[in-house]
Amino acid sequence: MIDTHCHLDDRQFAHDIDAVLAASVAANVNRWLLIGYDPRRWDEAITFVGSHRGMYLTLGVHPAEAPLWNADVEMQLRNLLQESGAVAIGEAGLDFYRDNAPYEVQAPAFRGQLRLAAELDVPLIIHMRDAEDELLDILAVEPTLPSLVFHSFDGTEKLMDFVLSSGSYVGVGGLATRQKSDGLRMQLARVPLDRMLLETDSPYLVPARQKDRRNQPKHVVTIATMMAEYFDTTPDALATQTTANAERLFGLNHDH
Ligand SMILES: [Zn+2]
Repeated sequence: MIDTHCHLDDRQFAHDIDAVLAASVAANVNRWLLIGYDPRRWDEAITFVGSHRGMYLTLGVHPAEAPLWNADVEMQLRNLLQESGAVAIGEAGLDFYRDNAPYEVQAPAFRGQLRLAAELDVPLIIHMRDAEDELLDILAVEPTLPSLVFHSFDGTEKLMDFVLSSGSYVGVGGLATRQKSDGLRMQLARVPLDRMLLETDSPYLVPARQKDRRNQPKHVVTIATMMAEYFDTTPDALATQTTANAERLFGLNHDH
């Protein structure tokens, strides 16, 4: 199985990354997409991915880092995407939940990355929080959209309508396993299985009922097990299908 969204270069893993990866492989989660979300840490992310077998890279500017976006960073991103073997842009998007930059700062960074992804024909992984209408407005006026992944999807019926009509992909993770996530699970049940990806967002968004609050990629299995019934399938079938989806979308091969 593949963890399509994780932050294994986070300092929470600095002391035991080898053990975390071994536990992941033992659970049959043997490939990972590391999300390089901060231009100041892209080099570090590239090195990290290069030194771990089965690790793939994305590069982007997270909405929290949007103030860093400029022509220089854009050029750097364009070059690194072509040189580093990165499989997607992201995570990028809009987030008005925290004290992030205002719309006027976040929107150009998101739009710029959307256009770069469309131009280079790579998927874009979206991070969206408390910004559904603004995000939909931006997507509605882009002439060409890249393939989109709604990482840890958390939206209303309206956003799900867009996901379905655009053929976008949806990342399902720990958030969907939580007791209070009934409304979210109702939306996710509408997603065709061939548009679903599994992800942990490690070290964040640990699934329900875990004592260790640090999330780990081995929990892709926990998520598949907890979610399969809501999608009218079995954990095994969900695993097989979501792995095939990730391979197709990101162009992953087996002997990386
Ligand atoms: Zn993330």
